Amino acid sequence: MGKSAAERKAEQRKRQAAAGNHKIELILDDQELVMLDHDCAARRPGRDPYDRSELIALMIRKYHGELKKQLEVLAESQCEKCLESLPVNDCPCQGDAKCWTTSGWHKVKLTIDTP
Ligand SMILES: [Zn+2]
Repeated sequence: MGKSAAERKAEQRKRQAAAGNHKIELILDDQELVMLDHDCAARRPGRDPYDRSELIALMIRKYHGELKKQLEVLAESQCEKCLESLPVNDCPCQGDAKCWTTSGWHKVKLTIDTP
């Protein structure tokens, strides 16, 4: 049984009260704002849509969890050159084709498939 909009809002307010609220300014272009509003509604078909901050907060939590998992998997590997545990932030071997800092790090950055 899903939570009602009122229940979700109450939970959000409770979380925010416990953690402290932070108001940030977010600059989006027209296209991104249309995408955000679309997603707020599309994620709750036939129900009250998420509000913008609620969806952004949920996306951050989901994304953060995914990134942490990715970094945990990454930490099981080492740079082939310096044998440091990944991710390597700084290495004198940077530029060497075998060093992770040269090209391996591209797997960590956020990429968007463009059609
Ligand atoms: Zn290295």
